[in-house]
Amino acid sequence: MTEGTERTMTEKELLDSFDEALRDGHIFVCYQPKINHATGRMIGAEALMRWKHPVYGLQFPSDFIPVLERNDLIHRADLYVFEQVCAFQRQIIDSKTSPVPVSFNMSRLDMLHDSYIDDIEKLRKKYDIPVKLLHAEITESSAVGGMELVIGVLKKLHDCGYKVEMDDFGSGYSSLNMLKDLDVDVIKLDMRFLSGNIGGRGGTIISSIVQMTKWLNTPVVAEGVETIEQADYMKSIGCSYIQGYLYSKPLTADQFIEMLRRLDHEPAAAAMDLISVMDAGKFWDPNSLETLIFNSYVGAAVIFRYQNGKCDILRINQKYMKEIGMNMTEKEILCSDPFEGFDEANLKKFTDTLKRAAKSYDEESCETWRTVCSKICGKDKICVRTDLRMIGKADDEYIYYATVRNITSEKKRFGEIEESERKFRMASEQVNVYAWEYIFATKQMRPCFRCMRDLGVPPVVENYPAPLFDSGLFPRDYEEMYYDMLHKLEAGQESAEAVIPLTVGRIPFHVRYTTEFDENGKPLKAYGSAAIVADGKKA
Ligand code: C2E
Ligand code: CA
Ligand code: CA
Repeated sequence: MTEGTERTMTEKELLDSFDEALRDGHIFVCYQPKINHATGRMIGAEALMRWKHPVYGLQFPSDFIPVLERNDLIHRADLYVFEQVCAFQRQIIDSKTSPVPVSFNMSRLDMLHDSYIDDIEKLRKKYDIPVKLLHAEITESSAVGGMELVIGVLKKLHDCGYKVEMDDFGSGYSSLNMLKDLDVDVIKLDMRFLSGNIGGRGGTIISSIVQMTKWLNTPVVAEGVETIEQADYMKSIGCSYIQGYLYSKPLTADQFIEMLRRLDHEPAAAAMDLISVMDAGKFWDPNSLETLIFNSYVGAAVIFRYQNGKCDILRINQKYMKEIGMNMTEKEILCSDPFEGFDEANLKKFTDTLKRAAKSYDEESCETWRTVCSKICGKDKICVRTDLRMIGKADDEYIYYATVRNITSEKKRFGEIEESERKFRMASEQVNVYAWEYIFATKQMRPCFRCMRDLGVPPVVENYPAPLFDSGLFPRDYEEMYYDMLHKLEAGQESAEAVIPLTVGRIPFHVRYTTEFDENGKPLKAYGSAAIVADGKKA
């Protein structure tokens, strides 16, 4: 190579040297490993095209592939890459190294060539490569010219036994809808499309996609993973397959073989084995019968994952929030650790039930006490009856579907509360603290569970506090004073307190407010609490 002339080639230069590049091996293939971040083992690789011109040096696909596509040459280049991959796999097999599946990229334009699949099949047979060692990668944008073409190609690939990976998932082109119609075997989720901080919106999108793919039975490979934080995050949401600079840049054939020999490798793990009690795919479709049932007919329901003694809530319905949500938001519930509220005995009771259900494949039930804690309700202890069923499992990961009923008051009525529970309840009853939050901007008040249970306050009070004066919970003669207090808090006062007689019984309560401010110091909401005044005399 002549020093100093390395540069990106022009379209004309590329076209003029294309034949020579194929003939003389200037176009060649690099391999980027796909790693299981949970085990550190290699599960596969992707073949990436490179072009090293003798004068102009290394050219990257982003520069030359569009040129090849525009000039109807990509088809030839892709077949050339496919043949290189077959020859490479043959070399690996012959050298008694155990191979991993290698995926090859298919251009949208390859699909327009009717002979494409016959051509690759001929090559595969020529090198005698088991079809399971070759995966096709197609991109979402393949569907731009219409879904029929892609569906047809996918079927042909499947008929020949190829696994198909959906590349660049999340880059656009109505991804979710496409998955419904395209029966792909692996989804590649490019972290770079969902950049930004994984703790924020990007993370929420990624984790919902990963959760959804579990239901579709489709493993996910996270691509473009550059940092250990990204890899750990992906693992934490159940996606351990990773391709990216963190583990390795694309390697030359020799470097790749060396890595393959060095690392243990494993076959790509089986997709989650969903038990066919329901159509999991339909489950995520907002218009399906399954969703309708989940939301409307089953009562309070939840879907959660159990793995290595840990539990994550994946999905809840509205009634679940009502039943044991303690006025938490859906997000608060999804992010909470459901096992946190169990004491040891109740935790054992619950996990034993999970284990029974995993064995019996049938419905199993238990009644357990737990402490629930929310920002506005504070702590409360509730008893929940859970009827559950395992609906999916893979390795050490189990998915359960459960309906729940809050039976705290029944338990209380029937006097079946065990001694410790009774003590707790008595204590909490005696404290008689009611809590709520009041949002200045919307004039909404969200009460705690005890306010709802004991005082019949609805989960959200609009135009607070007017409805509570109307209902007689708050006395009319305190109206002016109460509004004045709220106005002061809204104007920035940090706290306020007063003794106010509440309920028609005019029981004196010590009412306290603390204001929460946003980062600019603007008052956002006020947290209120009311504790009965110790001697309980009427005011
Ligand atoms: P792709 O299929 O999405 O391939 C992944 C690209 O991401 C590769 O770029 C790879 O080098 C890069 N990459 C992998 N890990 C990381 C990372 O952690 N950080 C960053 N920043 N990048 C990472 P490359 O090799 O330049 O290929 C670009 C695109 O060109 C490919 O995107 C693919 O669409 C296309 N391409 C490559 N080889 C072929 C081929 O043989 N045939 C066809 N039709 N297209 C190909
Ligand atoms: Ca690709
Ligand atoms: Ca990709």
